[in-house]
Amino acid sequence: MSQEFETVIGLEVHLQLSTKTKIFCGCVNVFGSAPNTNVCPVCLGLPGTLPVLNQQALLYAIKVGLALNAQINPFIKFDRKNYYYPDLPKGYQISQYDLPVAKDGFVMIKTDKNEKRIGIKRAHLEEDAGKLVHDDRGNCSLVDYNRTGTPLIEIVTEPDLRSPQEAYDYLNTLKLILQYLNVSDCDMEKGSLRCDANVSIRPIGQTALGTKTELKNMNSFRAVKTGLEYEVCRHKQVILSGGRIIQETLLWNDEKAMTIAMRSKEQAHDYRYFSDPDLVPFTINYKVIDQVRAELPELPQIKLERFIKQYGLSEYDAGVLVIDQAVAVFFEHCCQHYEQSKKVANWLNGAVLKEMNERKMGISELKLTPVNLVALIKAVENGVVSNLAGKEVLKAMLDSGKTPAQVIQDKGLVQVSDDSALMAIVEEIINQNPTVVEQIKQGKPSAAGFLVGQAMKKSGGKANPKKLSELIIRRISNA
Ligand code: ADP
Ligand code: MG
Ligand code: ZN
Repeated sequence: MSQEFETVIGLEVHLQLSTKTKIFCGCVNVFGSAPNTNVCPVCLGLPGTLPVLNQQALLYAIKVGLALNAQINPFIKFDRKNYYYPDLPKGYQISQYDLPVAKDGFVMIKTDKNEKRIGIKRAHLEEDAGKLVHDDRGNCSLVDYNRTGTPLIEIVTEPDLRSPQEAYDYLNTLKLILQYLNVSDCDMEKGSLRCDANVSIRPIGQTALGTKTELKNMNSFRAVKTGLEYEVCRHKQVILSGGRIIQETLLWNDEKAMTIAMRSKEQAHDYRYFSDPDLVPFTINYKVIDQVRAELPELPQIKLERFIKQYGLSEYDAGVLVIDQAVAVFFEHCCQHYEQSKKVANWLNGAVLKEMNERKMGISELKLTPVNLVALIKAVENGVVSNLAGKEVLKAMLDSGKTPAQVIQDKGLVQVSDDSALMAIVEEIINQNPTVVEQIKQGKPSAAGFLVGQAMKKSGGKANPKKLSELIIRRISNA
């Protein structure tokens, strides 16, 4: 008997907020310090200390909530989530249970067919825990409390995702929105952005949810997708062989590409949530919400649509620009100096992006200004240098910070369009390639492209390719 199943996934994303100080104390909030140097009696949970909410963390959380189309609760409170672990010195985590900062939002994702709305159940503030460091030499575990009290916002979706691919697309869409908000470095490698994935399956047509398992320990979006694929398979196998899924938390092992049981899943009541008596509830003035809303940046999806409309770009080109907010800003600066926006997009998404990847630099770190890039594009368009030489000019500009005019002069790269100079090269190439010449004569003009390429090489990239092509065709038909 074959049975068709539907996959159901819900994601919980934890994002560290890049406030100057921690969420309930004055310790600096930075990554990478020597262990246990950014700690104080409050974040170490010493008796008699009291937490004070960091206003910036709350404002960032409101910003995230608004960007996710959520409702901001006008009345919020903090709750204690009680559990024991060595990285949690107080024996409880300050989190938000029934009155989170934000609830009932959504994120639109693109699927291969159309757009899909992924519900955001809630987004709440909480504090991060410390970090255990396993020391193999000493055969022991050490604990670093620097991370304790780092502000986190946890973003929880409704169980609206229907495949590991959708989960992957959602994560990329969400991350881009969060990057635009500039509230976190969103760096998964540093642990600034972490994702737990909940998954279940159910027979198609059934409305009740199946029993879920929760996956932890994925250190990339790719790993979230692979882990979910593995887990969906496992659920099917268990169910089809007559077994039952037990609700539990599993660790994803990326090297072995499999999940390992960690603990049976606790229920909310196991945590004995109760309001933190040290932090009275907060009312959030609607004026504060309006203020944050007014300061929201243009979000990626809106920018994408505007770029397509305003600059006549293809969806692909606009998409590549928008993926990097700084590149999108750079693009618009260029367009203020040059009306050929598509050319600008081609250069940014092609040659410039290639240099960024090779140099592992963001666009703002490159020695490139919008004015200089536009000058280079114009030099190519006006035939001062060939397209090929233009790429070389770009490299030299980035190495030296010089203007394209300076580089072109220094390197003697001015394009040769002079007929007599080019004719000498053409003669040579034609003599060297009799078979290709024969093909062209037999009515295969496309073969001329090969000769143009050879001639370009010979000229050191300096020849004007259009001119070359004309000369080659003329020379062969006259022969
Ligand atoms: P818990 O109390 O176990 O953390 P929540 O109700 O808070 O569960 O949900 C946590 C995440 O799990 C949410 O993203 C939610 O959408 C998702 N989820 C809940 N039930 C299921 C299920 N049966 N299958 C898949 N995902 C689920
Ligand atoms: Mg949960
Ligand atoms: Zn502290």
